Amino acid sequence: MKTLSTHFAANQSSAPRPKSHAAFVRAQSLIPGGVNSPARAFGGVGGEPIFFERAQGQRLTDIDGNTYLDYIGSWGPMILGHRHPRVVAAIAKALESGTSYGAPTEAESCLAELIIAAVPSIEKVRMVSSGTEAAMSAVRLARGFTGRDKIIKFAGNYHGHADSLLAAAGSSAATLGVPDSPGVTAGTARDTIVLEYNDPESLAAAFGAEGAAIAAIVMEPVVGNMGLVVPTQEFLDAARRLTHTHGALLVFDEVMTGFRLSYGGAQQLLGITPDLTTLGKIVGGGLPLGAYGGRADIMNMVLPVGKVFQAGTLSGNPLAVAAGTATLEELRDRPPYAQLERHGARLEQGFGAAAASAAIPVWIARRGSMMTVFFQPQPGGMPVTGWKTASLSNTAHYGRFFWGMIERGCYMPCSQYEALFFSSAHTDADIEVTITAASEAMKQLSSDGKLR
Ligand SMILES: *Cc1c(COP(=O)(O)O)cnc(C)c1O
Repeated sequence: MKTLSTHFAANQSSAPRPKSHAAFVRAQSLIPGGVNSPARAFGGVGGEPIFFERAQGQRLTDIDGNTYLDYIGSWGPMILGHRHPRVVAAIAKALESGTSYGAPTEAESCLAELIIAAVPSIEKVRMVSSGTEAAMSAVRLARGFTGRDKIIKFAGNYHGHADSLLAAAGSSAATLGVPDSPGVTAGTARDTIVLEYNDPESLAAAFGAEGAAIAAIVMEPVVGNMGLVVPTQEFLDAARRLTHTHGALLVFDEVMTGFRLSYGGAQQLLGITPDLTTLGKIVGGGLPLGAYGGRADIMNMVLPVGKVFQAGTLSGNPLAVAAGTATLEELRDRPPYAQLERHGARLEQGFGAAAASAAIPVWIARRGSMMTVFFQPQPGGMPVTGWKTASLSNTAHYGRFFWGMIERGCYMPCSQYEALFFSSAHTDADIEVTITAASEAMKQLSSDGKLR
């Protein structure tokens, strides 16, 4: 029987990337696993990570000189593609003046104004340096504002790696099978209630049991971190109604969906107004920047106006603010969302047809420029509505599809449990090339399957 690892070994030798291999060997001796974030390791697909040296527009170039169409976009930020001229010019201009002052700049207010104008629920906003920091700070603020300890999160939702949010987290935590990390204390974990996504009954039951102790629901309004999972209206309505009734806050983690699903994020698309919103990824335009914001009365609880502590030496960093501002201005002035939707619909249809003609059972979920092809455990098109159903996916099939796409010059997420992203730089022709690659990769997967 042909095992997964021999399949990958065969792939590696037929398309060798000797420089990536050498770079990985060296990196592993210096950096745990050779990567600075586990999502970059290829644990979910087997084989070795590819090392990159350059990107332009919709394309990535690895250190062996291979070029790929990019379907991760740095896991979300690069909605305009790489090295967009407006963003590059803004960073270059900021660089002429200085890289960090540890003091306020007018540029921070310009970015804050853009964010407040764009995101319906945000009246005031605080800038931080990552999505993790934004989510951690929003949870602290929700607890400080309500005077309550507990939070509700959903299995397979990822909110960065703050202790209280690491229970049943998606993303690389899901891929690596360590939803609960060593080092998170039992006391911290006790304050986090983990529920299944899209299950309004369990949400109502949790509020019924301990509503007076719950500070907030923290959720991805459209989930990207267990693969793409879309919420039902009933579930969203329940989250909004129950938090309101019980005096808890609704926190939308829009680090991935903010400025991605629409200029105003998922909340604008879904018509639900949360109390607090976290942002990251696109808001920094490819540089390290996150933000959290919401109702002014809640945000005014943050130091130095209120007593909830949150700080950062590099918060509102001038280069990151310049990149973020240029990105948001470009998205505002030339909204790419209609094109992204058109390309997304074509990809969804093309990948679906490719899977069907190869008789590979899949469930495809998509919103705008985010999509996941879930390889199903058996034929039947079982809907993926939360972690219980997502976690049944045939990850071996995903791994072989991934390598099939790499061989054909398409760089997809290296895990079944990550959404793919594309950018406004992707052309009609790129989308067609990708669909042809997917048809071939699905056919190869289906004939390999018969060999086993
Ligand atoms: C990426 C992500 C985070 C964490 O952001 P970092 O910048 O990686 O710390 C938090 N929440 C969601 C929904 C994300 O997708």
